[in-house]
Amino acid sequence: MSQLQFDGRAVIGGQRVAALNGATFQCISPVDGRVLTEVAQCGAADIDRAVGAARAAFDDKRWRGLPPAQRKRIMVRFADLLLQNADTLALTETMDMGKPVKYARAVDVNSASNCIRWYGEAVDKVYDEIAPTADTALALITREPVGVAGVVVPWNYPMIMAAWKIAPALAVGNSVVLKPSEKSPLTALRLADLALEAGIPDGVFNVVPGFGPEAGSPLALHMDVDCIAFTGSTRVGKQIHVMAGQSNLKRAWTELGGKSPNIVFADCPNLDRAVEAAVGSIFFNQGESCNAPSRLYVQDSIKEKFLEKALALVPAYTPANPTLPDTVMGALVDKTQMNTVLRYIESGKAEGAKLLAGGEQVLQSTGGCYVQPTVFDGVRGDMTIAREEIFGPVLSVLSFSDAAEVVRMANASVYGLQAGVWTSDLNKAHGVARALRAGTVHVNQYDEDDITVPFGGYKQSGVGRDKSLHAFDKYTETKTTWVRIDSPV
Ligand code: NAD
Repeated sequence: MSQLQFDGRAVIGGQRVAALNGATFQCISPVDGRVLTEVAQCGAADIDRAVGAARAAFDDKRWRGLPPAQRKRIMVRFADLLLQNADTLALTETMDMGKPVKYARAVDVNSASNCIRWYGEAVDKVYDEIAPTADTALALITREPVGVAGVVVPWNYPMIMAAWKIAPALAVGNSVVLKPSEKSPLTALRLADLALEAGIPDGVFNVVPGFGPEAGSPLALHMDVDCIAFTGSTRVGKQIHVMAGQSNLKRAWTELGGKSPNIVFADCPNLDRAVEAAVGSIFFNQGESCNAPSRLYVQDSIKEKFLEKALALVPAYTPANPTLPDTVMGALVDKTQMNTVLRYIESGKAEGAKLLAGGEQVLQSTGGCYVQPTVFDGVRGDMTIAREEIFGPVLSVLSFSDAAEVVRMANASVYGLQAGVWTSDLNKAHGVARALRAGTVHVNQYDEDDITVPFGGYKQSGVGRDKSLHAFDKYTETKTTWVRIDSPV
């Protein structure tokens, strides 16, 4: 840990630079409250400089002009460099946002590297189209990079959220300006160093740290940014669409909040697996996952047995120092988030839910931000903890009697990111999966994930999809070229 070096300066035009006005903010670790480094507090002028560098790189074709196979080789080198730097990236992520280092290494670094590799490898295998028109003409349908892509990401999976956007955007030839969260800027800045080292030309990938209103808004409002890809809260996501409309009608893509229902029927094929998934998925990453199954619906007849098994697993998630190799539950990202979670816990108690486990801040003497894994039973659909995204280790348990009732309850949410269904009945599994208004439905598991499948939400969970070949749609324009053919024969 003592050998870790942090550099909080922006990366613009291939250079590490301070904010133009010299402003910085402190990057404070939620692990123990220490100041990790000063970070450039960039604003509109810095965003303008980064967009200028990105535009210049796009216009002179130093990146998009390379054959796809050559961009592929550079992207694959970039992915390799993440793995070569895995230990320091993982520890940096842990110190910056509090997640257990074993997951930062095994999940975040590997997944971000895999994403960059996958889009790099895909880009020389995707063909354009010729439309089936009459033979007096030829209609080519081609994909072109949009130009300068603005990217704004949150703090819960800083490298993965960035990779899901920068990888497809860069692979197809765009230039990128990334604004990481002010709560976790350090690994995004390292990604920019590694991209340069891999051979991505100067100005193609810029990272500009700063606060949302000061740096994020100027990016979303910029007249020379062609698309804005955002992951974060629904509240800010709505503003992103407004800013896109107020400025140059840039394409706006948003991956937003969730309050995912997880439905366990009495005929669940493997109760122990369902219990492990329900508990493990809400407490993974300290509950700071957009797709965390935070509403657990258990059919009346098995609820008592289910809860008994679930409560037996909770102590395994007791928070501890996330830099230790065996820790599974680390620190929440900062004091603000910790206090938000504690307020939700108080609201659960005040509105009449029954606290079965946790509910307290712990490890105060460390100076870090730790909250116990928390379980509420007797939750009703109208309670705040059943409706709002808590983004912390808090499970709300509700009960139901039949499929029609639980589908109605599950869909009674402004969100529609993911959902889970546990049943041995094939008809019920497919019927409920179809009826659920969610971008992803898990059947008899909750942890399958792969770069090959789209990720995104219905309703106020956002617009568009990350991951899979579908993500290319966000970072390309579709062009039709008609060619008249006067056949001489
Ligand atoms: P947030 O909306 O507060 O911030 C996200 C990003 O937006 C940060 O970089 C922030 O600086 C920036 N921002 C804030 N205000 C802005 C403004 N006015 N203009 C432009 N940018 C602004 O969200 P957060 O607290 O960082 O992240 C948690 C949220 O992210 C949760 O709601 C979670 O569900 C969501 N999330 C969604 C997904 C998904 O794929 N659907 C994945 C991860 C997280």
